[in-house]
Amino acid sequence: MTSGSQTDHELPSDTVGFDKHNHADCINTAVAAAESHCASNGLRFTPVRHKALEILLQEHRALGAYEMLDRLRDAGFGSQPPVAYRALEFLVANGFAHKIERLNAFVACAHPGANHSPAFMICRACDSVAEAQSAPARDSLGDAARAAGFQIERTLVEAVGLCPTCAEKAAP
Ligand SMILES: [Zn+2]
Ligand SMILES: [Zn+2]
Ligand SMILES: [Zn+2]
Repeated sequence: MTSGSQTDHELPSDTVGFDKHNHADCINTAVAAAESHCASNGLRFTPVRHKALEILLQEHRALGAYEMLDRLRDAGFGSQPPVAYRALEFLVANGFAHKIERLNAFVACAHPGANHSPAFMICRACDSVAEAQSAPARDSLGDAARAAGFQIERTLVEAVGLCPTCAEKAAP
């Protein structure tokens, strides 16, 4: 039995994505955070931007720009690629979504509004993505950077592996 006390995991316990959680809450919280961020910063949360965020939030999985385009078209937003690209650009620029370089795809941010360095865990079997917060300044890369006199501005952490569901399926 593990106790409920604080443990010293490498990743904080607020990892969102693979854990069982109330996903409806998860969507509502993220949409509300985006709405209030836009309202207080004078940004226009247009219907297409709103829809694009909802689409990303439906699953904790990365979505490519073309997949987004298909879903926006199904939702009645036309089929011009710039529509999808511009909406995604807006979501990324404002921290509501992140680009997963490895997959060339996008995922909704699990910690919208927070200033953070995301670390992604990408399932190679089902493309589900979980986001954790990384603390590059405090890990071994941070130590190496300090030793080299290098100032880290941004790190990109994309771990590839198997999510709990796929790992279970793969087990004999
Ligand atoms: Zn969720
Ligand atoms: Zn994030
Ligand atoms: Zn998986």
